[in-house]
Amino acid sequence: MWWRAAARVDVSLLGIDAEPLREALSCGVHSQDCVGAMSKLLCTCGNTIRDNTSSLPYKAAFLKDMHCEPFSDWFVGEVQSYVAAVERGEAHSWLLSRGYSEDYIALGLDHGNVLYDHIHARFIELRRTAYECSACGRVHLETVEDNMFVAYTPDSPGNSGVFSKKSDERAS
Ligand SMILES: [Zn+2]
Repeated sequence: MWWRAAARVDVSLLGIDAEPLREALSCGVHSQDCVGAMSKLLCTCGNTIRDNTSSLPYKAAFLKDMHCEPFSDWFVGEVQSYVAAVERGEAHSWLLSRGYSEDYIALGLDHGNVLYDHIHARFIELRRTAYECSACGRVHLETVEDNMFVAYTPDSPGNSGVFSKKSDERAS
């Protein structure tokens, strides 16, 4: 269930229309286009980078260094607070205090899924996305503005698989 919920959040964050994409391409910063549940990014080389499934070997999600420690502190604090609320029998009021609706609470999710939703939602707020073009090796980093990307060209053209787990998992 939580995977479907996370996917809905992703789609809403990626939703933009195509006109800013054309405008942005002319100034070196470009944006991600979203069609339904599939997202795509047009590389300067002409290759279309598609983001339509999970665990892509040419995609990365990252936190800025200035967000890493605050996120870790928040993570531990929220888990501790939730566990304490559960032990007191106050999970319902804890969820309300964090902005969850009665409809969400009525789903009766187990603690693992509640914590997943809570933590993952915060991660999505903070994370930036990066893609490596499988054709030319350019790395596209999301700027401070959501769904806007700037491209960096490697010294040696070509796909280096910088976001794959192993060298043999490069995008083709
Ligand atoms: Zn490219």
